[in-house]
Amino acid sequence: MHDDLTAPDEPTGCRDTGWPCHDACDVRHFELVRQCDVRGLLHCHTSYDGGAHGLREISDTAIELGLDYLGITDRLRTDLCARGLNPAAVARQREEIEAINAGNPGFRLLHGAEIETAADGSLPVDEQSLSAFDYVVATLATDHGQDSATLTNRAVRAVMNPFVSILGHPFGDYMTMPGELPLDLETVLQAAAQARVAVEIDAIPAHREPEWRNCVRAQELGGRLVIASDVHRAARLGDYRHGAELTRHAGLCCRQILNTQGLDELLGFFSRPSC
Ligand SMILES: [Zn+2]
Repeated sequence: MHDDLTAPDEPTGCRDTGWPCHDACDVRHFELVRQCDVRGLLHCHTSYDGGAHGLREISDTAIELGLDYLGITDRLRTDLCARGLNPAAVARQREEIEAINAGNPGFRLLHGAEIETAADGSLPVDEQSLSAFDYVVATLATDHGQDSATLTNRAVRAVMNPFVSILGHPFGDYMTMPGELPLDLETVLQAAAQARVAVEIDAIPAHREPEWRNCVRAQELGGRLVIASDVHRAARLGDYRHGAELTRHAGLCCRQILNTQGLDELLGFFSRPSC
């Protein structure tokens, strides 16, 4: 008779690496990201916004790739973005998206928008317009010469905006920078996790790889991340495979990557209770 027929200890980290995930992130027992886990993409530009392809061409490519959803995030016209879509173009795009969705059961085009935050972190778009989109990606592409504290406060204000679901480009623009970061990323990541705002990981193969300690820190804080490659032409949709490979190599858990989630969970994440 053996005395050691006890159940093995429950794993305390990701199965593949044993990464000691923080309790708050609820990622224990979840797998590392595989390419096939990516269900859709959430940062994509079309010919409405200088992209190479129209909605129909780019959605056809997404369907060919086996994706379940694709978020269109053309920029809106504001004082900071003169080339963005005006309200008439937004309305036309929404009609076109609805028509494509009606003809493609099992696939969903989402109507998002990429918006550059104003210098104070607010969004230069009225709330009624914002509420008509499925989700909003806020960016801080222009630093306005701001010091670290001002830039940090601006980013925090952006993620605390109830209309914002994704903070765009921070891993590409800040987390790959050599030397000291221009803002307090720990504070921004904490705010994003608290506000349930996902943070993009730059998956463009030609770009420098993200600083993975920061990505893992976002995961430790319980925040969601998004594999994003800021697509401007249909052929670049496949770059998500590179992003999946990078995130797997970094030991990030599938559950924390927003675009490994199915459409229903994704829409739940985008629903803003206070809106
Ligand atoms: Zn973009």
